[in-house]
Amino acid sequence: MVSIISGSSKDAEFRKRTVKAAKLFVPEFALSLMADHADAGFDADKEIMGLMIGRFYRDDDGTYAVVDRPVSSKLISDRFSVRFDESSMEELFDSLEMDDGESIVGWYHSHLDIGCFMSPTDIATQNGLFGGECGFALVIDPVRKEIKVFDSTIDDPKPADMVVLN
Ligand SMILES: [Zn+2]
Repeated sequence: MVSIISGSSKDAEFRKRTVKAAKLFVPEFALSLMADHADAGFDADKEIMGLMIGRFYRDDDGTYAVVDRPVSSKLISDRFSVRFDESSMEELFDSLEMDDGESIVGWYHSHLDIGCFMSPTDIATQNGLFGGECGFALVIDPVRKEIKVFDSTIDDPKPADMVVLN
């Protein structure tokens, strides 16, 4: 699986969050894109995944993230697992075109009618992406209409509060 430690949360700009205790802020359109992606995957009986591009900020309560947009790429997936196609990985990173201050703040993927939780593979992915630094995993179950967000606590991601911005 992908191994890119997103280390830029350390020099995040200081900006007080608008909702206390919330860790991840997602614009409604971005959440809709991810939900639509999960629905399309469900129609094809496949799990889907992608990355969330955004910015880290910090305030007196610590680091949090604001999503700008989701991105995805060609996937190898079936009903129970999903991963990025290795050959299109380079393409994906090339296409990221992140602005100054932007980074990978999280990733999203779907579970088909098994509920939203972090499997051992998901936890390994989360560890590999963020190495315990601030970062989020958003899990969507398009069948049960559930969405859950998890933080990057090594080996034991904890549910995190998400705020939808409109
Ligand atoms: Zn999973």
